[in-house]
Amino acid sequence: MYTLGIDIGSTTSKCVILRDGKEIVAKSLVVAGTGTKGPKQSYEEVLSAAGLNESDIAFIMATGYGRTTFEKMNGEMSELSCHGKGVFFANPGCRTIIDIGGQDAKVISLTDSGSISNFVMNDKCAAGTGRFLDVMAGILMIGVEELEEYALRSASPVSISSTCTVFAESEVISQLSKNVNKDDLVAGICGSVASRVAALAKRAGIKEEVFMSGGVAQNGGVRAALSKELGVDVKYTDDAQYMGALGAAIAAFHEIDKGLQSGTDH
Ligand code: ADP
Repeated sequence: MYTLGIDIGSTTSKCVILRDGKEIVAKSLVVAGTGTKGPKQSYEEVLSAAGLNESDIAFIMATGYGRTTFEKMNGEMSELSCHGKGVFFANPGCRTIIDIGGQDAKVISLTDSGSISNFVMNDKCAAGTGRFLDVMAGILMIGVEELEEYALRSASPVSISSTCTVFAESEVISQLSKNVNKDDLVAGICGSVASRVAALAKRAGIKEEVFMSGGVAQNGGVRAALSKELGVDVKYTDDAQYMGALGAAIAAFHEIDKGLQSGTDH
């Protein structure tokens, strides 16, 4: 039996198809989020990658900022719940999740059985989110996927004192005009995101193992700065950006399973 999770974010759309709630059959990611054709494209791509038709999917669970907009869904679930389920499924040793996406950051505490025991989030300010990195990468005229390479080369990161994205933008432009080393500037930018998210994480409480989810998890510069700030090894897996969609596919499986247990036909 196949279930599908779709995570419709602010910047990207992700889908995961699971077989029997256990095995990832296919995944897809489109860099276009809510309000675009991204969700539909991601949905079509994942079906095609799995070699399945729409009628083969027993339940579609939607999550993410744009989850209510996906007409084909059978149910919707919060990002917190889905990231919790996805990360715990992929890494059962995880007790703290740091999720940094395109427009918010969340820290989620998990119990030994994977339930959510606490969370804190920043969804009010672009600083400390992927948006901050996207804006800064734009000024530096490099791709977000290149930030890691620059940051990890730096021996002395520049300190970014502005806590607001708009002011930090001017600060970075001013540093560039002074010919500050680009590696040090990028390391400072990654460090700025890390220190804001570390403050959230300290409020939630840190218990190992700590895993990152969301797109920014792929940035080794942010991971390294977070590990340093928190004094723990902040881990990630290559599919960190799919954790919300994976959790949604797991939740979809539970919906069907619940129905089967109670004798309801889906
Ligand atoms: P959302 O669900 O809100 O759309 P994601 O979890 O998909 O957000 O994360 C999007 C963010 O991830 C982007 O804003 C970008 O900063 C970052 N990102 C995406 N791809 C990469 C990459 N290859 N390397 C580093 N950062 C990335």
